[in-house]
Amino acid sequence: MKDYLNVTGTIFDLKKYAIHDGPGIRSTVFFKGCPLACWWCHNPEARNPEPEPVDSERVRIRKYVMDPSREGTIGYEVEVGYILEEIEKDRVFYDQSGGGVTISGGEPLMQLDFLAALLEGCRDWGIRTAVDTSGYAPREAFELIIDNVDLFLYDIKLIDTAAHTEYTGMSNELILENCVWLVQQGSNLVPRIPLIPGVTDTKDNLSGIASFLSGLEGVDEVSLLPYNTIAEDKFERYQISNRLGRLERQSIEQLQEAGKLFEEIGCSVRYGG
Ligand code: SF4
Repeated sequence: MKDYLNVTGTIFDLKKYAIHDGPGIRSTVFFKGCPLACWWCHNPEARNPEPEPVDSERVRIRKYVMDPSREGTIGYEVEVGYILEEIEKDRVFYDQSGGGVTISGGEPLMQLDFLAALLEGCRDWGIRTAVDTSGYAPREAFELIIDNVDLFLYDIKLIDTAAHTEYTGMSNELILENCVWLVQQGSNLVPRIPLIPGVTDTKDNLSGIASFLSGLEGVDEVSLLPYNTIAEDKFERYQISNRLGRLERQSIEQLQEAGKLFEEIGCSVRYGG
């Protein structure tokens, strides 16, 4: 038996038929745990690396694909073999659409052994992989997985270090260094920029990110992620304080203005995942 099959980790969801988490039709596995604490976090239930019980009277958790009996708990431990069997069921969709599996979170690199084992399994089983990462992980972590990742969906939130620290709890220096290194290694990397009104969608920030990316040969596509209110709804549901308050999604014109900044440096722009 392959060693990776029995490696365990903690996930909080497995989404089927995902169409915003990379090319084609995908299965997205959401790892639990994140070192950042973004004010706008759209998956606040992901931050704690441990499974956590919730008050099922107060919080209605969607039924999990793999084990509906776990309703009422956020996060559960699974083996890599179990995930591979689940995602294998949709192979026909991946093959027809150019899709595969996306590993997201939380921050997948926080559970490095689990991530490396799952990626090895996907490579063995011929399933294309994408890793959706904040970039906040030691270089050695990326070195361990890089050969088994077909695509990095790489979040770049704020280019100013002080602002990044304020709004995410961590500096962006490591994130930007890892981004440069991955591109230098020839990784297929698509930067993803969450557009948070008044925070990350300002002209200063987007111009700064465009300027940073213009120095990276091989980055020719950018995803701009328009603001959505999922986070606000979750903050209410999980009774987490919402430090940004209620915000408005960007208009088409605002999105086009933002997109122009990246088209000017030769990138094609995708709006959404
Ligand atoms: S990196 Fe993603 S999962 Fe982590 S706190 Fe920020 S938005 Fe949430």
